[in-house]
Amino acid sequence: MAELKVLFVTSEVAPLIKTGGLADVSAALPAALRAIGVDVHVLVPGYNPVMAQLAQHEAVATFDDLPGFPSSRLLFGRMAHDIPLLVLDCPSLYQRDGGPYQDVSGHDWADNALRFGLLSKIAAVLGSSASPLAWHPDLVHCNDWQTGLTPAYLHFAQDAVPSIIAIHNLAFQGIFPPATVQQLNLPPSCFSIDGVEYYGSMSFLKAGLFYAGHITTVSPNYAREIQQEELGFGLQGLLTMRRDSLTGMLNGIDTEEWNPATDPHLARQYSGADMTGKAADKQALQNKLGLIPDPEVPLLGVVSRFTHQKGLDLLLEIAPRLTELPAQLAMLGSGDALLQKTARDLAHRYPGKIGAVVGFSEALSHQIEAGADMFVMPSRFEPCGLNQLYSQRYGTPPIVHATGGLLDSVVDCTPATLEDGTASGFTFDGMTAENLFITIQRAIDLYHDKIKWKTLCENCMAKNFSWQSSAEAYRAVYLKVLGRQE
Ligand code: ADP
Repeated sequence: MAELKVLFVTSEVAPLIKTGGLADVSAALPAALRAIGVDVHVLVPGYNPVMAQLAQHEAVATFDDLPGFPSSRLLFGRMAHDIPLLVLDCPSLYQRDGGPYQDVSGHDWADNALRFGLLSKIAAVLGSSASPLAWHPDLVHCNDWQTGLTPAYLHFAQDAVPSIIAIHNLAFQGIFPPATVQQLNLPPSCFSIDGVEYYGSMSFLKAGLFYAGHITTVSPNYAREIQQEELGFGLQGLLTMRRDSLTGMLNGIDTEEWNPATDPHLARQYSGADMTGKAADKQALQNKLGLIPDPEVPLLGVVSRFTHQKGLDLLLEIAPRLTELPAQLAMLGSGDALLQKTARDLAHRYPGKIGAVVGFSEALSHQIEAGADMFVMPSRFEPCGLNQLYSQRYGTPPIVHATGGLLDSVVDCTPATLEDGTASGFTFDGMTAENLFITIQRAIDLYHDKIKWKTLCENCMAKNFSWQSSAEAYRAVYLKVLGRQE
């Protein structure tokens, strides 16, 4: 059978540019796909950090006359694991200080429709007979709203290949005024309920969900949840209609990047067979965040975007009571200004017991996964979630709200699940501060039973969260969309 060629278009890819889990997936899934023989090329915008890290590269195409768009060009280079990388170079849209989606003060870039319209458009050009490249994909794999117009452009293009769209978070939809349709050179007729229209506006994500050949999302449970009103963000009707073309596959993790036995960020490496180094990592973390270096007091870790979705407001509400149990708290994150302030204030009020670092730090995120005794992730909804996977790999049982991918990846610890070896953390139903508190208390009770706790940590570390089985599942989706048999 001919080799399968896939263009993977994404708005972020680690380590070049990262705001969240999409970047991790965009690095690890292409690598896992290439390992099973899929020829993947990744396409990403040329933001400042991407351009700065792009080592050897060559210009392979220019686009000077796309109606509605500024001139741009494609640079060809390589990312980690030697994966072919196409960087969309358009300085007027991408080379500026700030993040990929927002300026330095946290406001969305005013021209985001144009910025991600261009990304979507170029991906579609590469998937059509108009492509200037010698390499032609069989299929375009889109990710989230920033690439949502690609399936629409492909739909209206000549000799275009099929596409799939992966939902990493349905809460972000790329909604713009109706006039955007014309500005981005889409046919006016597509502004309808059977097209890109979403409650009177235009939605990039809706476009993708409507026109793509298949929809994937990042956990089986989230695939079910988004067909319901509560988590469907107004798209539950379309998603239910397309349920036969909707597949949930749990994300894997990069098991080399996240490996406590080799992790260069840690004070001491350790493994499931010998976890002694973890105590040194706890002490190093306590020292780093100014916490009392007591080996016995349970240390709770958090690494998160500070947003309503992640439920940190509930954790911050009960933080003073947690210190009395006693427990310590080590938090890293950034986002919502009020949550940042509350976290900082708590650290100030409870020195030695609560530590908070506001910002983004790859090294500290690894150190928290390793140094904490348990990891707290009370997300209101969670498409997949990666930190609970990392924490299990680091022998740091997660405490999670029973939703989305958290429910698919964490098995609640009960006498029965501890006995049969499946227990890997603590889950709670009912999104209240009290339920979170009770569950943390339940975890801490077990923590003080050293033998049972060790069993739980070893269970966590024995779980396999590699990408291999999900990569196989993605390939099966590609083949299905292409109508090919294995
Ligand atoms: P989401 O994509 O919704 O933010 P995920 O759990 O899927 O949540 O992925 C979050 C990723 O971003 C993880 O790799 C996590 O370690 C990382 N991350 C989040 N906030 C920070 C931060 N402040 N510093 C370092 N890494 C962070």
